[in-house]
Amino acid sequence: QRLARPDARVLGVYNSGLSADAVREKYGVEHVAKLASNENPLGASPQVTRALIAEASGSAIYPDSASRAVRQKIASATGVGLEQVVMGNGSEEILQMLCTAFLNPGDRVVTLIPSFGLHEIFPRMMGAEITMVGVDAQRQFDVAAWEQALSTPVKLVIFSNPSNPVGCMLNREGFQRIIDAAPQDCVLVIDEAYYEYCESDLDYPDSLRVLAQQTRPWIVLRTLSKAYGLAGLRIGYGLASDVELVNLLDRVRTPFNINRSAQAAALAALEDKAHVAASMEFVSQQRAIISATLREKGYEVVPSHANFVFFDCQRPSVELAEQLLTYGVIVKPWREPGYARWIRVSVGSEHDNQLFLRSLELISMQAN
Ligand code: PMP
Repeated sequence: QRLARPDARVLGVYNSGLSADAVREKYGVEHVAKLASNENPLGASPQVTRALIAEASGSAIYPDSASRAVRQKIASATGVGLEQVVMGNGSEEILQMLCTAFLNPGDRVVTLIPSFGLHEIFPRMMGAEITMVGVDAQRQFDVAAWEQALSTPVKLVIFSNPSNPVGCMLNREGFQRIIDAAPQDCVLVIDEAYYEYCESDLDYPDSLRVLAQQTRPWIVLRTLSKAYGLAGLRIGYGLASDVELVNLLDRVRTPFNINRSAQAAALAALEDKAHVAASMEFVSQQRAIISATLREKGYEVVPSHANFVFFDCQRPSVELAEQLLTYGVIVKPWREPGYARWIRVSVGSEHDNQLFLRSLELISMQAN
């Protein structure tokens, strides 16, 4: 340890959540509702399974290190050039590549709080200084606070829209204001991991169109882990301002970062638009039920634009999350100051969502 870089020695480990097997074993439950990782309750498209089986014979052969076929498909679906697309072993890997490529110790990064843990951990790994911008009293993006935070030099700006874990959406006007406020010599990283869940909202910014007007480097991150149901295969992508940025990221990424199965699965998944539409529809319907039920019970629930719900559970969230585990329900408790009573619960299958709501009710009854 003594030989490690100081930044690496003190780094927090990303909390990747409990596995269903670990909970089954520890709590002796038969069924586990895994509602802490925002996975797709409908799974992947059946076409993905067929593609994976067909691909199995290629296991001895290295994948295409440029992931050309997948990038081509993403380029035509999003209207950007092939050279603007970069693939990651999950979009999290692209976050890491960006931090490795751009951050020197002491560089400033502005990000959101509460937020996706890796938006903070990866910059810290490079020794960056982090400014965290909170949400406002309505738990929405605080655009004035962003403008203030961006009024001094900054190297990287990173936020997710819609936000994880809050689920709030930055609208078109707010997006434009934040982009306008950012200094000219910084890199804009817009993490749209959950964008499919609010793409049809008229007020959701068309980030690619807005950013295309910019002269500074930018990248929009998306993933096949959520609406496409491929979290287990690790495929994310970035749509970058220009070929130079993609070339830079190519220098810091591992050459074969997207394996053959993942490339085959991505091609099949991107074909099946109906599966994505069904996933969005299902999430929207179940999310409404979860949110309304929690509100009826008196909990504060943030209106969600993603596949999870963030709510004030009115007691220490870590304790409640522990109690829910005894019912086989895994949720994600927040720990940051000001959010130690907040829980993020993913929208799961109808059965799992009901199991969560019933278990919460039983725990509340015991407490009273
Ligand atoms: N960004 C955000 C905001 C996320 O919530 C997640 C996953 N939880 C990711 C990026 C990473 O997703 P993946 O690596 O699976 O693409």
